[in-house]
Amino acid sequence: MTHHTLTLAGEVFDHPLQKIVCVGRNYAEHAKEMGSDVLEQPMLFIKPATSAQPFSDACMASSRGYDVHYELELAVLVGAKLKEASVETAAAAIAGVGLGLDLTLRDLQRELKANGHPWEAAKGFDGSCPLSDFAKFDPSTMQFEHFALTLKVNNEVRQHGKCSDMVFSVPDLLSYASKMFTLMPGDVVLTGTPAGVGKFVTGDQIRGQLLHLGEQILAVQSSVE
Ligand code: ZN
Repeated sequence: MTHHTLTLAGEVFDHPLQKIVCVGRNYAEHAKEMGSDVLEQPMLFIKPATSAQPFSDACMASSRGYDVHYELELAVLVGAKLKEASVETAAAAIAGVGLGLDLTLRDLQRELKANGHPWEAAKGFDGSCPLSDFAKFDPSTMQFEHFALTLKVNNEVRQHGKCSDMVFSVPDLLSYASKMFTLMPGDVVLTGTPAGVGKFVTGDQIRGQLLHLGEQILAVQSSVE
């Protein structure tokens, strides 16, 4: 697998992707559907850079005998190094916004959780993080509370989330994450998935849409094979 190339407004981004920081249970409705409590602190995990692939590339229906489940998420492209950053500094370091899929081998994740093991094997496999092109984030016209995202599978809405429903806001997440590990320019943060997660089936046609104040910022399509 070749290294994934990040793009911002269609142009190759200045910095290579190093890691993808993800947050679990950042929408209360999704935590509920997973039978989990809403957390007091963000619960973070990392997908390696090798998990990234272009969103337009086909997704796998299964991996190592496990079904692949989808989680559509707002993806944030970090534009500056963040270490123990304040919420304000973190907000100012956001270069772009896009869409990512946090593909998950749910059955394997359940097994790992039940045994008290880390779940990277269920979350970090090659191709487990399709990423769209990023739109430039303009803090003078864009506010995170006004973003929404929709995932359609075979033209049916499976997930729809409003970022105003996030448990932890995007700047809060980046600030918190930067206290756990330094965020580098070219890192991507996946900000959690709304309710409606489910499994992919071979032949599924996928469409993701990112909206700001109801207006489309970007749309991406893919398929499952
Ligand atoms: Zn996720």
